[in-house]
Amino acid sequence: MAIESDVLVIGGGLAGLTAGISAAREGAHVRLITHKQSTLRQASGLVDVLGYVDGEPVADPFAAVPDLPADHPYRIVGESGVREGLALFDDVTDYRGDHTDRNALVPTHGGTVKPTARYPASAAAGLASDDRDALLVGFETLVDFDAPLAADHLGAAGAPFAADGATVRFPGDLRPDAKVTRYAHLLDENRPVDVDGRRLPACEALAERVRPHLDGHERVGFPAVLGDDDPAAVRAALAAELGADVFEVPMGPPSLPGLRLADRLYDALDEAGASLETGVPVVDHEGGDRIERVLVDRKGATVPYAADQYVLATGGLVGKGVESDRGGVREPVFDCRVPHPADRYDWFEDGVFGDHAFARFGVDPDGELRPTDERGDPEFENVRAAGSVLGGYDFPAEKSGAGVSLATGRSAGVLATEAL
Ligand SMILES: Cc1cc2nc3c(=O)[nH]c(=O)nc-3n(C[C@H](O)[C@H](O)[C@H](O)COP(=O)(O)OP(=O)(O)OC[C@H]3O[C@@H](n4cnc5c(N)ncnc54)[C@H](O)[C@@H]3O)c2cc1C
Repeated sequence: MAIESDVLVIGGGLAGLTAGISAAREGAHVRLITHKQSTLRQASGLVDVLGYVDGEPVADPFAAVPDLPADHPYRIVGESGVREGLALFDDVTDYRGDHTDRNALVPTHGGTVKPTARYPASAAAGLASDDRDALLVGFETLVDFDAPLAADHLGAAGAPFAADGATVRFPGDLRPDAKVTRYAHLLDENRPVDVDGRRLPACEALAERVRPHLDGHERVGFPAVLGDDDPAAVRAALAAELGADVFEVPMGPPSLPGLRLADRLYDALDEAGASLETGVPVVDHEGGDRIERVLVDRKGATVPYAADQYVLATGGLVGKGVESDRGGVREPVFDCRVPHPADRYDWFEDGVFGDHAFARFGVDPDGELRPTDERGDPEFENVRAAGSVLGGYDFPAEKSGAGVSLATGRSAGVLATEAL
């Protein structure tokens, strides 16, 4: 006997979680199945909707949607679909940026400025459009963030404020290979640590090491490790000690803001009443024009799961929702068509930052997000695709990754429920 639900969502990244939350809120009995950790672990935690078109920065991503190519996922869900995906996101998170249609400018750990639509509350005091002087603080053991270099880059990029950088020893003397969560938990727990021959609570100890560099700066940016369980409390404690606003600079993987966001979305999925199974891949499917059931590998046993409607949200080339080898490119769960040039030398350009075809690989959906065959007909009547398993857009070049996942995830969840 198969395990049954109305809507089965495959994939627990931003797209699958959004699809699951929206379908459950629409009244469907939803089950979400996912295998490994999603790209939220690697992503910065920023929600980019559309930062660039043809290499040019975009001020208002919503206004730019109608001019995108016809096969772009945003054209399929429309500007209203993008707005509704973000509205769902705003409802379940405490992110900022919903007061305006214009992109915010957030400094990154490399000292560049990134146009983004939504940013965590922890990054709010760091916006590049704010003209208050900023001190960036790096830690000796966290080599991915070179604060003086990032400050120099911000200056060279024309940020409208003076930025200085300092590198300090993180109190508690963590090893260089310590996980980012160790920094975060030490600050969360605010346990006493030794600093300059005294024992002080961790936040106070960190502030003590930063204070000599403060020099009148009104805001201080740290790498995004300021607490895991209660980051707002850690920021507040540091701000009180320093007498300055405190913000986080988004970091590379593993990304604490991305992990915090995943936790929040999993909570929202649970609050919406959906069921969740992690660590289990969907390995096969049964059915003809309509998927009857999928087969799930549960510790070596193959277990059937049946649903009326399916949402495929397994990610792109990074998440393994799209696979490639010398012979071609494929979508492994339903074996949906992934359009790609037959000659693999046409998959990429010579230049590293060229307009690579592989960046757009993914399934080709119809107006209801159903993957299509060569004739443009839906491959299955009850499968919808969302997020980076979709083709037709180049998220690193456009800075549109999270936005596409939210917009198509929300639409796929609603369409699947309407079809019940
Ligand atoms: C390094 C990096 C940095 C990024 N930075 C940003 C950024 O700053 N801003 C931004 O907006 N976007 C960013 N992105 C892009 C953004 O993270 C993604 O576009 C978006 O989160 C993709 O979500 P998704 O749900 O489509 O796919 P994924 O996050 O890939 O999730 C897919 C999920 O499906 C699961 N899965 C796959 N196959 C199966 C199967 N057979 N059975 C069950 N489960 C399966 C996977 O294990 C995974 O959990 C970044 C991406 C990367 C890789």
